Amino acid sequence: MLLYVHVPFCRSKCRYCAFHSVVPAPGQMRRYVELLEAEAALWGRRLHRPRVQTLHLGGGTPSLLPPALLERLVRALRANFRFDPGLEFGMEANPESAADWTMMETLGRLGVTRLSLGVQSFDDNDLALLGRPHTAAQAEAAVRLALGAGLRSVSLDLIWGLPGQRLHHWLANLKRAVRLGPQHISCYGLTLEPGTPLELQERAGGLELPDEGEQQRMYLQGGEFLESEGYLQYEISNFARMGFECRHNMGYWEARPYLGLGPAAVSTLGARRWKNPEDQDAYAAAIRDATLGTDAEPLDSQTRLREMVMLRLRTTRGLDLAAYRQAAGRDLAAGNQPMLRALRQRDLIRLAGGRLRLTRPGMLVSDAIIANLFADLPAAK
Ligand code: SF4
Repeated sequence: MLLYVHVPFCRSKCRYCAFHSVVPAPGQMRRYVELLEAEAALWGRRLHRPRVQTLHLGGGTPSLLPPALLERLVRALRANFRFDPGLEFGMEANPESAADWTMMETLGRLGVTRLSLGVQSFDDNDLALLGRPHTAAQAEAAVRLALGAGLRSVSLDLIWGLPGQRLHHWLANLKRAVRLGPQHISCYGLTLEPGTPLELQERAGGLELPDEGEQQRMYLQGGEFLESEGYLQYEISNFARMGFECRHNMGYWEARPYLGLGPAAVSTLGARRWKNPEDQDAYAAAIRDATLGTDAEPLDSQTRLREMVMLRLRTTRGLDLAAYRQAAGRDLAAGNQPMLRALRQRDLIRLAGGRLRLTRPGMLVSDAIIANLFADLPAAK
């Protein structure tokens, strides 16, 4: 099982952010950890202290938790879940809250094996526009510190397609990232989430976003550059040195069961899915009344089939056509031949070795390709 813990706190709210996170009030982080301890105990009892292959602390900003609270949280998880010896223990961190030795020393002691740093850009103007609470110099210092702390893997998150960004800016960001020598780099295209300050600014005509052609060049040339530097693409937005792919995220894309703890966390176990309440009081009441997960929705066969296609096609391993046939009761090619032929001719997909894969240009338009496939998906058996 994959275990996810949502830490819903941030130092300030970034201008593009639609994740569930708040700036903590005094005492709120301690209260959160107490609730997390109770939730971990609840699931430990219900699931008989299940085995966990990967653990991921996400958010929010988990590195905002003071070391003593982080230790309490991990102690509660260890007490209620059985960690596999080869556990991947990943954690998200922001440069301003991770750039000190006390934090790095705590992470090493707690058994964190993978740190994912939200760098986003090495340009201070970009960072100011995004409302990030750190500078490029702080980000670079945090990466160096993490790499020197002996964690198995350090990953950098970067965003492309920023207002005012051009291809050469993006490639300069990637070069700076590569020079630091992390094991993993994630590159996300900027998404303007409705209602965020950045989206409102764009609607008011106050942002100059790169045009579609420039964005395509950023994605394609950025990917080529990273692969030329030994970072292999294994998912639409993710590149890693051989053997340093994120196992936790791979588990999501392979539709493995996962349990999410914390406010707003989502779980999928036994073909049922539920989401914890976002509001901390409602979350506390659900733990007290042991109602967490009792409103789980069954995932119908159509939904599972769609998710299988959608998630597997995100990865460079692609979709196993035999597995599809077994789930759907028919070949993917049946009824889709003209479309698949057209996609191949445009070099957007490859069919080889019993798998359907998107090429890098195909990944750029993955939503449209998947929507076309969905148009004709049968109900699964
Ligand atoms: S650090 Fe991440 S979760 Fe927090 S506000 Fe910024 S984008 Fe959102």
